[in-house]
Amino acid sequence: MMFPKLFIPGPTNVRQEVLAEQTHPMIGHRTSTFEDLFARVQEKLRRLFYTQSRVYVTASSGTGLQEAAIRNTVRDRVLVMVNGAFSQRWFNVAVGCDKEVVRVDIPWGRAVKPEDVLQAIERDGPFDAVAVVHNETSTGVMSPVGDIARAVREMAPDTFILVDAVSSLGGVRIPVDEWGLDVCLTSSQKAMALPPGLAFAAVSDRVLERAQEVKGRGWYFDFLNLEKYLQRNTTPATPAISLFWALDRQLDIMFAEGLEARFARHARLAEMTRTWAVEQGFTLFAEEGYASPTVTCVENTRGISVADLNTFLQQRGMTISNGYGNLKEKTFRIAHMGETTESDMMTLFESINTWLAGQA
Ligand code: PLP
Repeated sequence: MMFPKLFIPGPTNVRQEVLAEQTHPMIGHRTSTFEDLFARVQEKLRRLFYTQSRVYVTASSGTGLQEAAIRNTVRDRVLVMVNGAFSQRWFNVAVGCDKEVVRVDIPWGRAVKPEDVLQAIERDGPFDAVAVVHNETSTGVMSPVGDIARAVREMAPDTFILVDAVSSLGGVRIPVDEWGLDVCLTSSQKAMALPPGLAFAAVSDRVLERAQEVKGRGWYFDFLNLEKYLQRNTTPATPAISLFWALDRQLDIMFAEGLEARFARHARLAEMTRTWAVEQGFTLFAEEGYASPTVTCVENTRGISVADLNTFLQQRGMTISNGYGNLKEKTFRIAHMGETTESDMMTLFESINTWLAGQA
């Protein structure tokens, strides 16, 4: 069976040595071996998230922590900024948690700006929290969450800031404490270049205070429960132990590259991809100045068959993503996150160019 190189926005390619970490013999999770592993990983995660507080690790995908963020911080009312498919999902999650949800729609392809959030708070506030997706994977747009957080903290300091960084964390610098994010969540299978199955959330101290007065936190994702066990270097329920070994190794690989170098590589690959797309006569879907460093959404202005292109690429051992939902065939997405290199991108562009030349 051939496994294509992935240029899709998750899951991303995982290094063989990281995959291999999962083959350690099984251990019990109430052992000092696991607690040592947990403690090691916790320290490294705090470094990656630029936080002194804590990073919970759950055996779930990122959506689980979208739900946790709502359940632990929202007493009654939450504002959700919707500018793509994953912020729309977060809205649905909040509705599913039976909260009073105010939704602000921003056209797909555009970023959420501080003024959008401030206007919504002025018009419909107060809110217990505002939820924003940092990097909309469906449209290739990155919103300025640092600026948003600063503006919200000034105008409405009791409105907690919930950030989904599922397709950016690990590829872009997100200084959680400096920006004052209350919850910043991500998944393992994107820019962190791990298999799916783990999710991570940096959580501020004031969230733990708030959680005490929020009803219906559930159990599995109750931050107070996760905190109690984190203090003992473990988790309330059985963790995904094999993935923890892989995580420990992958974090070392990230630090060996250097976080700043890693972020710079993502920026370079994004720039290469945008330049290539424009040179080939396509336009970019993202609003200028807000294009994502981890995934590029290309507008299919040449009217190619994206499905046919992908079939061709798959024969050559690689795969890209069609547009998301209604954007299928109208756009296509090329991810450049995780462990992807310049030479991977060159190989991809050469192949796409060959296919395009044959379409004339
Ligand atoms: N948020 C964003 C921005 C995403 O890109 C995705 C998945 O692609 C999700 C949330 C959902 O994450 P998961 O599939 O890990 O639940």
